Amino acid sequence: MESGTVETSKKAVGATNGANGAAPGSLEVHNPATGERIKTIPIDSPQSVAETVARVRANQAEWEALGIEGRYHWLGKLRDWLLDNSERVLDTMQAETGKVRADASGEPVYLADLINFYGTKAAKFIGEEAVRPHSPLLASKKLRVQYRPHPVVGIISPWNFPLILALGDAVPALQAGAAVVVKPSEFTPLGLAEVVKAWKEEIGGPEVFDCVQGVGETGGALVDEVDFIQFTGSDRTGRKVMARAAETLTPVSLELGGKDPMIVLSDADLDRAANAAAWGGMMNSGQICMSVERIYVEEPAYDEFVAKLTAAVGELRQGADGKGFGKEVGAMTSPNQTAIVEDHVNDALASGAKALTGGKRVPGPGDYFEPTVLVDVDHSMKVMRDETFGPVVGVMKVRDSGEALRLANDSRYGLSGSVFGEKERAERVARRVECGAINVNDVLVNYAAMDVPMGGWKQSGIGYRHGEPGIKKYCRAESVVITRFGGKREPTWYPYTKARRGMITRIAQAFNARDLKRRLGMRG
Ligand code: NAD
Repeated sequence: MESGTVETSKKAVGATNGANGAAPGSLEVHNPATGERIKTIPIDSPQSVAETVARVRANQAEWEALGIEGRYHWLGKLRDWLLDNSERVLDTMQAETGKVRADASGEPVYLADLINFYGTKAAKFIGEEAVRPHSPLLASKKLRVQYRPHPVVGIISPWNFPLILALGDAVPALQAGAAVVVKPSEFTPLGLAEVVKAWKEEIGGPEVFDCVQGVGETGGALVDEVDFIQFTGSDRTGRKVMARAAETLTPVSLELGGKDPMIVLSDADLDRAANAAAWGGMMNSGQICMSVERIYVEEPAYDEFVAKLTAAVGELRQGADGKGFGKEVGAMTSPNQTAIVEDHVNDALASGAKALTGGKRVPGPGDYFEPTVLVDVDHSMKVMRDETFGPVVGVMKVRDSGEALRLANDSRYGLSGSVFGEKERAERVARRVECGAINVNDVLVNYAAMDVPMGGWKQSGIGYRHGEPGIKKYCRAESVVITRFGGKREPTWYPYTKARRGMITRIAQAFNARDLKRRLGMRG
């Protein structure tokens, strides 16, 4: 068995391909907060995936021709629809994920912000670039770079934030001029399907945005059909997606798992650090790629920090809260994940760790794991090494910031992290953490700072979301070299003569050896 996986029953509550009561070829979607079945939907066959991709491909050129403003016009309608219908969307998403209302409610707002961000910045990020030739020998040329979209982008997304991690990637791809087909997670297919239906039927948007439903087989079929794949999910599946994409030389961007460290320095505000660790570790039941999973605390602050963290986590209210905002911690969305969380915690407890609060599954109905703080942990335990992706944090005492950094960087993952302490010292330490985004005296907030890129280092991913790279990745650069003036032939063309060739060589040597460009004060 691969690391991070455990055997789970196919009969577990969740969505499976005809294996938990659903007919073959269909998905059953359950509410993990209550265990109730919500809906059964058909799975798209490879043939139907190919047809969907062909349909949006046929309309892509027209969509691209609308230009940045024309596309923003339509995406603006989607933004308004999301804001006007957010309660309806939240109801669907809350039912299929088992989230508490507060954890679900950020999704439409984030997406509206993202649509405005890329709508107003796209011209700067992917507009045509005028480039000065670097050499006087190219003085007769006008250089331009235009960014043309990969015609069809396929998005394969996970279950933990069903809209942010599907629509959140579709928005920059559509804004770039691509057509988009999304395959949402089999556990949470409904929220995204509702948005796609609204795009077609209520907004009346161009037919360049669609979704297909299913498990891994449907995802694989999508990889075969599209021109670019944006995948978000586990590193285990990410490897399979990349291998499949290699068969057609399809470029990929992979946003994978994490094992994010928090470092607490002795001069930190320990109330803030403990509250941040409780929220950063337990928010969305710890089912966030950037969740705080492991915490390293300098010795003088350890006892007080652990006491404050245990108290903060111990007070959290868990359960289904409907629209009430009356609970902090919701259900586990995927039964497979609950089994992994339980395995990590049991492995740690069996090896000498202590649970200061939590430590086990909550009896049903619904699929819950208690918010858990583990101490006496070390890096021989799965809970400090592999991605847990549940409401569990492990806390270790360290001698100094050097040991904290060594342990924080002792991971195959490198997604994001956080450092708490006196501002300047914390920043110095933060800059040495090996990851794609680091927060100083805060947690998770880099995801809201869409101005800057976010991408995993090491086995946490390839490519970036947000910022300029978050839209440019959906484009291919085309360099356009235009001759402004010239005679009947260039000196480098036929026929070759000794005299002409010698002259060209002498001029090129003179320009390069003397760095004439700089001496003449030329820029660019
Ligand atoms: P997963 O890898 O099991 O599944 C992700 C998606 O891939 C699903 O839609 C699934 O149906 C599909 N899939 C499965 N097998 C496939 C195959 N062979 N070919 C193509 N598609 C296939 O992940 P998950 O359990 O849904 O999500 C949890 C994981 O996602 C965690 O590891 C988490 O860290 C990661 N994640 C990463 C980010 C990020 O931005 N880096 C964000 C959220 C979640």
